[in-house]
Amino acid sequence: MTETAAAPATKYSRVLLKISGEALMGDQGYGLHPPTVARIAAEVKSVHDMGVEIAMVIGGGNIFRGLQGSAQGMERATADYMGMLATVMNALAMQAALEDLKIHTRVISAIPMDQVCEPYIRRRAIRHLEKSRVVIFAAGTGNPYFTTDTAATLRANEMGCQAIFKGTKVDGVYDKDPKKNPDAKRYDRVTYDEVLQKHLAVMDASAIALARDNALPIIVFSLDEPGGFRGILAGQGTYTTVHP
Ligand code: UDP
Repeated sequence: MTETAAAPATKYSRVLLKISGEALMGDQGYGLHPPTVARIAAEVKSVHDMGVEIAMVIGGGNIFRGLQGSAQGMERATADYMGMLATVMNALAMQAALEDLKIHTRVISAIPMDQVCEPYIRRRAIRHLEKSRVVIFAAGTGNPYFTTDTAATLRANEMGCQAIFKGTKVDGVYDKDPKKNPDAKRYDRVTYDEVLQKHLAVMDASAIALARDNALPIIVFSLDEPGGFRGILAGQGTYTTVHP
């Protein structure tokens, strides 16, 4: 790990950042918005500069979701494979943006595509993290009927990450949608079981259950807040911790 002199102290040495595909589309209704991808890459760099090892999982919802395909009459598994391929495109876009900032990266896909990125080999991925490379996990879990939230929880467990940072449009978990309900209340801390029982919008149920079974904290924060990711790692800012 490289630590710059000015970097604030953090209790985290290895984390996984999960963002949805939609986070990369900016104000467009679809696809990739390069300035937005560059902005998020800069946020990742600012945490990398603290000496924190970073794994990432990016969704594919800005391009294709399996449920959308199956609603149009496509076989669900086929549609899910298309969704997984969408996540590879997002991972490559993030890789390009990070490499522009001189950060070494690896894209690792759960579905082998050797000409494009590395296949998933757990020990090799850990080694990349130890060498301060940002590892972007693509193609979800490689299985249909899952989501990238579950992939994020799985990879965070496998990599020995101390927490998942889930970047969203709001600064934490609320009892109802804060964009529609001005009286919505934000939780500072909430348990996995409360998230499941109250159907709070954090991650899907299988992702939450997998995090709960391994006591992996999920930190929900706003990706729209400049410097927010780094701030939380330095012990500041507003966010919700999902904990045992
Ligand atoms: N997907 C899948 N298996 C996985 C991860 C993802 O089949 O392990 C497919 C699924 O169709 C999903 C799509 O990939 O709809 C995009 O992922 P997701 O919906 O999680 O993206 P996000 O909402 O985070 O942008």
